[in-house]
Amino acid sequence: MLILGGTAEARTLAAALDDRAGVRVVSTLAGRIAEPRLPRGEVRVGGFGGPDGLAAYIRQEGVETVIDATHPFAERMSWSAFAACDQTHTALLRLERPPFERDAAIDWHEAASLEDAAALLPAAGRRVFLTTGRQGLGAFADVRDAFFLVRCVEAPDPAALPPDHELLLDRGPFTVAGELGLIDRHALDVLVTKDSGGELTQAKLTAARDSGLPVIVVARQSRPDTETVETAAQALAWLDHAG
Ligand code: NAP
Repeated sequence: MLILGGTAEARTLAAALDDRAGVRVVSTLAGRIAEPRLPRGEVRVGGFGGPDGLAAYIRQEGVETVIDATHPFAERMSWSAFAACDQTHTALLRLERPPFERDAAIDWHEAASLEDAAALLPAAGRRVFLTTGRQGLGAFADVRDAFFLVRCVEAPDPAALPPDHELLLDRGPFTVAGELGLIDRHALDVLVTKDSGGELTQAKLTAARDSGLPVIVVARQSRPDTETVETAAQALAWLDHAG
């Protein structure tokens, strides 16, 4: 079994499968983060070299099932898994947490892309809590007349940062009290987030709601049409059924 990982759900699934006898499970990570949270069991780090490389790996290792548990915004890996599984006639399951639930108490603005989110600034707010991550930060590099508190796990390319910013290197899960503290200390007046979903990233939305901040939510992009479950428990049930 091959788990394409990089998420909490992937780690939960790997831990559950690690206890099972007679199943070889390999979790894979892209290798972008210097000190990633490692899943339990066997781990492979680094890309495969596109769909053909993944297909070759599947054949070579005799992979029978691929579980694409990558982040909702890791689109390239998902499309690659879709193509490679199609090519090798391998079973594919997508494990993807649902998007954030829209909260009527939040002034909620949906953006189709990071660029569209950037275009809403500074009109939507001049003190921005930017939590969309290191990749794609360049979309905000030209936004002037706004201060950004940029939170990422690892330092981004300095050229991608907006002119007026403070960089906060930190990794969740975050608490509502911690997020409220940041909003207060930096006098933030708008939150920008990807529609990552999941409880681990919910605190910032709760804090934004409690502080009356508008939220700009970058929508998920289109995905391959694959059988999908939302939790590791559902993935286990699917695997039991499929097996
Ligand atoms: P991406 O754009 O879809 O992937 C870029 C390339 O990285 C892929 O084509 C693949 O290289 C390699 N790759 C990605 N995920 C991999 C995995 N799990 N195992 C092996 N190779 C992988 O993905 P991304 O947005 O850069 O995200 C990279 C990783 O970080 C993913 O594993 C994702 O789950 C995790 N992550 C992403 C975000 C986010 O906001 N994008 C947030 C949290 C965690 P090859 O083509 O060479 O195979």
